Amino acid sequence: MQARYRYRIEPTEAQREMLARTFGSCRVVFNDALRTRGDCYRAGERVGATEVQRRVVTVAKGTEARAWLSEVASVALVQSVRDAQRAYTNWWDCQKGRRRGRKMGRPRMKSRKDNRQSFRLTRNGFSLRPQGRLYIAKVGDVRVRWSRGLPSEPSSVTVIREPDGHYYASFVVEVEPTPLPAVSQEAGVDLGVSRLATVATSSGGRADIPNPRHLAGKLRKLRRLEREKARRAKGGANRAKTRRRVAIQHGKVTRARRDFQHKQALALIRENQAIYVETLNIAGMVRNRRLARAISDAGMSRFVRLLEEKAERYGRSVDKIDRWFPSSKTCSACGAVQDTMPLKVRTWVCGCGAVHDRDHNAAKNILAAGRAERPNACGVDVRPLSGAAVGDEAGSTPNAA
Ligand SMILES: [Zn+2]
Repeated sequence: MQARYRYRIEPTEAQREMLARTFGSCRVVFNDALRTRGDCYRAGERVGATEVQRRVVTVAKGTEARAWLSEVASVALVQSVRDAQRAYTNWWDCQKGRRRGRKMGRPRMKSRKDNRQSFRLTRNGFSLRPQGRLYIAKVGDVRVRWSRGLPSEPSSVTVIREPDGHYYASFVVEVEPTPLPAVSQEAGVDLGVSRLATVATSSGGRADIPNPRHLAGKLRKLRRLEREKARRAKGGANRAKTRRRVAIQHGKVTRARRDFQHKQALALIRENQAIYVETLNIAGMVRNRRLARAISDAGMSRFVRLLEEKAERYGRSVDKIDRWFPSSKTCSACGAVQDTMPLKVRTWVCGCGAVHDRDHNAAKNILAAGRAERPNACGVDVRPLSGAAVGDEAGSTPNAA
């Protein structure tokens, strides 16, 4: 399986200059590739991926307007064109109904003003030097802060400049799964806003994962800085200064959150053989402006992705329960389904007399639904081939929430 290992890198002033050029050139060929695709389509001309690449990289280098493309690593340009092609194809397939999953918009052009800049290199564009430096084509040997070792030879690296001005190298490496000893406990996880997750275990326990406290303080500071930025005159030096401070604070929040989520996900994976989560309509929820901040902060989709990655690595399983399954409205004691359950209701009493904490009740229902959908809830290593196919048959009532 593949994993990403990310390290801070410390390019020199001259290297930064060269990195900036590479970011810029990759952005240009990305946009050129999208434009070429669109133009050819409108002109009724059929072009393949190789032809697009030839036009926006090879041919373009020979023109006066794009001659500077020869100054940066071709590998990076080629990868950027590939990204553009994939974005275009995904969107196109989505239009034609050939692609499942989230609806995708038309790929957007990249802008000089984008906060995060990056480019990717395959094996022939970088190498690891004996002295622990990272050689980047046309940039040179860059210093790396090796916070931990790489488990194997990386197959590619993405060089990133975050909005706070820090540079990172994110390596893709192949790692061997290292299954943990099997345990019998399973868990249902309800992801939420006030808490990151409420967990109901098959041994009858409850384990909440709060949103990290230290994050609240960082967020308060961030909000204050953002208000300050809004007050500053557009285009002014003070605004630029505040913008940078906002970016630095954002970086701190992101790193704190990522670190916390990694630890919590690993703990859940260690303690449970199978984890069930509800698939969430996160794109839809974030549109609600009042909740937007809190929800994106909880970073639920990211948390689920972390759970899945760690499950694969440590021999556990994560199964998703249909998002229309009424986990909040169903009494986990008697199975009665309430008509409504407004978001503000935190505890409720069912007709059967059971008193429920909203989230814990939902977690219990998710656990029960997950176990029901798995033919061998007690077994260890046999998994249904497709969670979705099994889910369609078993109890998940298509309930318009
Ligand atoms: Zn009940």
